[in-house]
Amino acid sequence: MNHDFIDRIKASGLRLTQPRIDIINALKLIDRPIGVYQLHEKMTTAGSKVNVVSIYRTLAAFQELGIVHYIPSQQGFMLCTATCKDDQQTEHLVCDECGSVTELPMPMCATNDLQEQADARGFQTRRIRVEVAGTCQDCTTAKN
Ligand SMILES: [Zn+2]
Ligand SMILES: [Zn+2]
Repeated sequence: MNHDFIDRIKASGLRLTQPRIDIINALKLIDRPIGVYQLHEKMTTAGSKVNVVSIYRTLAAFQELGIVHYIPSQQGFMLCTATCKDDQQTEHLVCDECGSVTELPMPMCATNDLQEQADARGFQTRRIRVEVAGTCQDCTTAKN
């Protein structure tokens, strides 16, 4: 069990229920973003009784905490892999070929610039994230 995620859940005031722990553990076993139904199927197969609605709500709560990220192009969720603690501002490199996702902390200059532009438009920013589409090194190497 990665205590970092658990600590973050506890610090947020969110109750640390067994289904929530199960969801974290299930997400740790996968290396690609996963959809709610796929995750439910995996967890049910593994013997968990958690239902789809709970998974959906838990993932939404985890997303707010920055523990989990939603990757729109993959229509799936993945655990946060950023090394920085306060990682609300991140970017993801998404490989078009194999679907691998690499999370990087967004440079402060980019974050500040986006924030300023959003502020100038009166936009209340909740989270900043950027998705970079392309081909990962493994896939590029495999082709050459
Ligand atoms: Zn993250
Ligand atoms: Zn790839």
